[in-house]
Amino acid sequence: MSEIVPFPQLDIPETIAAGPGPGNTDARVLARYAGAGLADHMHADVLRGMVECKTMLRTVMGTDNVHTFGVAGTGGSGLDMLFSVGMPGDKVVMFVNGTFSGIDGLTVRMKAATAEELAANPLDPQTANVITIDVPHGQSVTAEIVEAALAEHKPKWAAMAHWETGSGRVNDIQGFSDACQKHGAMGLVDAVSSLGVGDFRIDDYPGVHGWASCPQKGICCLPLTYAPVSFSDQYIETLRATGTRTFCHHPILEARHWGVINGEDVEKGTYHRTHSAYAVSAFHEALRICLQQTIAQRAADYRFHEEALRAGVEALGCEVTSNMPSLVVLNLPGALAGREMELVQHCRAQNFGIWPTLSEPVQVRIGILNLLTETAIRDIVTRFGQAMRDLGADIDAEQVEAVLRQHYDRAIAAE
Ligand SMILES: *Cc1c(COP(=O)(O)O)cnc(C)c1O
Repeated sequence: MSEIVPFPQLDIPETIAAGPGPGNTDARVLARYAGAGLADHMHADVLRGMVECKTMLRTVMGTDNVHTFGVAGTGGSGLDMLFSVGMPGDKVVMFVNGTFSGIDGLTVRMKAATAEELAANPLDPQTANVITIDVPHGQSVTAEIVEAALAEHKPKWAAMAHWETGSGRVNDIQGFSDACQKHGAMGLVDAVSSLGVGDFRIDDYPGVHGWASCPQKGICCLPLTYAPVSFSDQYIETLRATGTRTFCHHPILEARHWGVINGEDVEKGTYHRTHSAYAVSAFHEALRICLQQTIAQRAADYRFHEEALRAGVEALGCEVTSNMPSLVVLNLPGALAGREMELVQHCRAQNFGIWPTLSEPVQVRIGILNLLTETAIRDIVTRFGQAMRDLGADIDAEQVEAVLRQHYDRAIAAE
């Protein structure tokens, strides 16, 4: 080692990313990333790629919204742009049923607090105009909950996670959209974990005016490439009227680089900030894969393999409390209760990347993003069973094998 370079080259191992996200990046996406030439952000092919991405993204999201594009960064970047429309004093109802909708709530309080409220508690502002409806961990936000809150508060904006990844719960998007329409609220949805996994078209939910997702979950792209977002014309008109205090994450300004100017598609984008040819190539390929496989087929595959994983961990004695197709959230059997973190650490030490919940209560989360094969699911169940055994659990391996065989034989019989 030389005196000037204090560290060796950074090697990061291959792992099984069996958590809530990031998922396992598709090899085709990695190849496009590494294969892109060094071209600047105004090169004709980079701009063309961005316009093609915009077009493909509209199909993937199921929308005619002109303001549909990618925000450089992760899900949080897309959400920060989505919520930028919430201005100090705006009345907002937030539905919170886990870690991520909780963070969304904090984001909105930071933006919609008055200057005095923000100064009083800068990292966790409390503001009367943002009303938080807390739904217990492990439960979904239902149509009834949304209807009751919007009828009572009549807010300008209402926000919810489509799928709350923290507790693994699918929330009622139809009920949310209907209640928003009925009560004249504009819906904002965190679709970070549902886009590319669930079979839905955002235009089927006219009560929702803004959507934000991420690159590295259902879209199977690299983190820090592009977070898909989409805004209705009404959202954009509202934003045009109030303005917002961000340049980088300004929905109207960022859209320019994707070839959306004055609410219309133009042939090529104009400068907003630097984009990366590598990121554009990767995102482009990820969207091509989504369209090739079709959203409907991916959704069916997620449901099918989640069922197998669920059956497998239940046969190991675990109790599943989630209903998301890309993830199981579970309680360990009685003998291992309280040892969730130890078990997760044990798995992670073997590059089997599962996760705990990030907010109370402590549960185990196992995800299957881009792991949609019988071999991958069997490997996950086997590794998880072995880890439970290492901690002293009594495992009925034959029973586990029987439920997995039954599940996958049924598929073969159906073909
Ligand atoms: C993962 C996730 C986020 C955070 O996304 P990042 O890409 O980590 O910024 C937000 N909301 C939901 C529902 C998520 O699943």
